[in-house]
Amino acid sequence: MPASDVPTTHPRYLSLITRERIVAGVQRGVTSLHGLIAHGRGEAFDYLLGERTHPFAQRAIAAAAAALRAARHPVISVNGNACAMAAGDLVRLAKATGARLEVNIFHTSPEREQAIRAMLLEAGADRVLMPSRTHAISHIDHNRKWVHPEGILMADVVCVPLEDGDRCEALVKNGKQVITIDLNPLSRTARTAQITIVDNLTRCLPRLADLAEFSTPGSGTALSDWDNQAVLSEAETAMRTPRSPS
Ligand code: ATP
Ligand code: MG
Repeated sequence: MPASDVPTTHPRYLSLITRERIVAGVQRGVTSLHGLIAHGRGEAFDYLLGERTHPFAQRAIAAAAAALRAARHPVISVNGNACAMAAGDLVRLAKATGARLEVNIFHTSPEREQAIRAMLLEAGADRVLMPSRTHAISHIDHNRKWVHPEGILMADVVCVPLEDGDRCEALVKNGKQVITIDLNPLSRTARTAQITIVDNLTRCLPRLADLAEFSTPGSGTALSDWDNQAVLSEAETAMRTPRSPS
């Protein structure tokens, strides 16, 4: 956690602390500069949501916990923003679900991959898989196609917070069940994943980890009965509904 002089009473405390974490992520080589821009886009959508976890997100969190618990080979894909914001909760979710953690970033950089791995290990991860240069998923051309043979390559369920649409589509075409966390209900990622949690990563990940820790396997909506489109429509409606400014 970066040192901060933002008082906890500040009305935008959580948002400001999260920005500090992302900036600290850039400083320690975990997050790319482009990640700052992606975070800003997320913040804009969160503002429209009233910066709260809505019932449609709570339903998706429960569905995601159930899908991860039911998976044979769940994997959590970690990029620089997710790691900087929530390394501890990513590790907790992995432990609660038996999922493997695998580093996967858009802008090629072995140094940054190693920095993400180091931060996850520091946060308590037992093992962090790195993308190989020998195994790749199909339907994608750039760096993000490379995967670990015991991780994403063999995964049946992949959780990809803050994902890029191309890779999300490729994962689905490779037969994976994809869970994403994305504040933008209009993004290709949100529309392509089977389960989309439209919520801020920093709010929903602790809840997801709690649910995965305490729920019994087999509880929650089966993926075959899950209506992701309904979640996206409700999220869009919530964003378009006027409310008093916070
Ligand atoms: P797509 O290719 O899926 O259409 P994109 O190119 O619009 O996505 P990217 O820049 O690749 O988006 O990824 C950033 C995404 O992550 C954005 O949709 C943004 O809303 C979302 N995002 C950023 N910060 C957060 C956060 N803290 N919690 C959840 N989502 C976030
Ligand atoms: Mg994109």
